[in-house]
Amino acid sequence: MTANPTIGVLALQGDVAEHVRMLDDLGVATARVLSAERLATVDALVIPGGESTTISKLAVRHGLMGPLRERVARGMPVYGTCAGMIMLADRLLGGTADQETLGGIDMTVRRNAFGRQAESFETGVRIDGVGGDPFDAVFIRAPWVESVGPGVTVLGSVNGTGGAGRIVAVRQGGLMATSFHPELTGDTRIHRLFVDIAKGHA
Ligand code: GLN
Repeated sequence: MTANPTIGVLALQGDVAEHVRMLDDLGVATARVLSAERLATVDALVIPGGESTTISKLAVRHGLMGPLRERVARGMPVYGTCAGMIMLADRLLGGTADQETLGGIDMTVRRNAFGRQAESFETGVRIDGVGGDPFDAVFIRAPWVESVGPGVTVLGSVNGTGGAGRIVAVRQGGLMATSFHPELTGDTRIHRLFVDIAKGHA
């Protein structure tokens, strides 16, 4: 239980500011994480959307890959959106030859899965543990989850748009990932769920 967690946003590349703003709106203390020293000060972490190959390369360059894996192994809650989902995948399809992930979630993720006809789209997705209307999910060159291991809970799947039935939201313990970008909408429900996870309440 962490009453007032500081939630870091991995600030190597991607839509960092949007995540920080959303967490600010929820009254949570945030920190932009660009170094192992800063990582050591946060209780939980968001990995933003962006370009996973770039995030991966920069994480190696900033000496963050090892420390990030270590924190994940010790149970730090992490929420990854889109490229962040890719970073949390134990297994990746469609990555570049030298692309490394952090891993942590026992899932196989397919990068750029929805195909060219669906570079970006929005659709309603029902998310387990998030009450109310389906989430207005924004997908941008998004991955999907091809398969999950027994310890992973599927939180949501898409119904149409060339990816019928595909898994787009998952959770394994304190690790959560979505193929889409709640940080690009005004809807804070998924971030609120993650804050509850970071507090040990969910
Ligand atoms: N296609 C991107 C990647 O492979 C992810 C896109 C996104 O985060 N919006 O990293």
